[in-house]
Amino acid sequence: MAPTQNTICSKHVAVIGAGAAGLVTARELRREGHTVVVFDREKQVGGLWNYSSKADSDPLSLDTTRNIVHTSIYESLRTNLPRECMGFTDFPFVPRIHDISRDSRRYPSHREVLAYLQDFAREFKIEEMVRFETEVVCVEPVNGKWSVRSKNSVGFAAHEIFDAVVVCSGHFTEPNVAHIPGIKSWPGKQIHSHNYRVPGPFNNEVVVVIGNYASGADISRDIAKVAKEVHIASRASESDTYQKLPVPQNNLWVHSEIDFAHQDGSILFKNGKVVYADTIVHCTGYKYYFPFLETNGYININENRVEPLYKHVFLPALAPSLSFIGLPGMAIQFVMFEIQSKWVAAVLSGRVILPSQDKMMEDIIEWYATLDVLGIPKRHTHKLGKISVSRYLPNMITCENIYRFQLFQH
Ligand code: FAD
Repeated sequence: MAPTQNTICSKHVAVIGAGAAGLVTARELRREGHTVVVFDREKQVGGLWNYSSKADSDPLSLDTTRNIVHTSIYESLRTNLPRECMGFTDFPFVPRIHDISRDSRRYPSHREVLAYLQDFAREFKIEEMVRFETEVVCVEPVNGKWSVRSKNSVGFAAHEIFDAVVVCSGHFTEPNVAHIPGIKSWPGKQIHSHNYRVPGPFNNEVVVVIGNYASGADISRDIAKVAKEVHIASRASESDTYQKLPVPQNNLWVHSEIDFAHQDGSILFKNGKVVYADTIVHCTGYKYYFPFLETNGYININENRVEPLYKHVFLPALAPSLSFIGLPGMAIQFVMFEIQSKWVAAVLSGRVILPSQDKMMEDIIEWYATLDVLGIPKRHTHKLGKISVSRYLPNMITCENIYRFQLFQH
């Protein structure tokens, strides 16, 4: 940790979002002596773990005027991590075995994660800091402070000034849609996984699922329970890939990526196979998106890299008063939120000092150069958990480890 100051100062801080990141951030900021207002447009805490059977009005989420539903959770979702890796460090995600309404499995359903986050909010009295059903519509720097404009569900608009803003707005709501040659004249239906809830609508259909990471692998199996056939298009697979996957219905295949979508409804894969599909499901991830941020060009989203960010958290030109919690994708999400928010809280109070703006920029440039040398595309800048660089570096060195190492150097 960098040297500390003697005088600890308390700041008035706006936190945008009351999901897992916003909840722990609010707690850490208050523990550090700051006053906190958390804004969330939902009715309750939990962020994306608030499952809804509703979805965006546009199934591909391309229409900018669509009604947006925040969550991307589907009905059958269970955690992809064991619960002991998911909790905050001082509030473990333990099974509530004496409460029959709770799911005590090691990989519980999404409802159990929501219940855990509600327990956390109750335990640390976070809700008293939250303004529910209040959307932040504009955040901009004004004379060394931050102007925050919001509106609530009855249309009441507010304009307030804060010393600092911490963005915890999540990044699984703005879909990234695959580009498919020929798709404009392909006659079938398309949906992004953000809007997938249950397999029922795919009953007896032939479905192509694009993407074979966590959501693609999970959703293709969910749909296979009712569909006639499910074909996964996997960009990461060799071009001749064609493999039947073991599922009880015996109707799931993985292919290489799509080559062309034709007007007659057929889909040609790069492995030469052709299927006549009813629906394409894009399980192709999400884009960082902060429509409320007005930072006069200080921040840029370049091929899904939010730049320039020091350790994925601070924007050097506006540090420390603007920060981001939860941008990196890595396995232990909640613990990462906790570490990042402790850092932000301590920097805002002056207990921990950031390097100079120049030094932070140097560090960022060096980090981007490292990614270039490793051949890691810009769009994976924040995907720390997914990218194993052990191919290039000695054992056990992954981007995730590098990030942990970087964080603990402060
Ligand atoms: P969110 O939970 O998305 O919360 C953001 C909040 O900000 C929301 O409540 C939203 O309403 C609010 N908000 C956004 N914009 C505004 C605005 N302008 N004004 C006011 N409020 C706003 N992680 C795991 O650890 N284990 C898992 O098993 C797991 N499974 C996942 C499965 C799926 C399908 C997805 C998409 C993600 C999964 N994750 C999992 C990762 C998950 O994103 C994190 O665990 C975590 O819950 C994200 O928390 P967050 O607070 O960053 O964002």
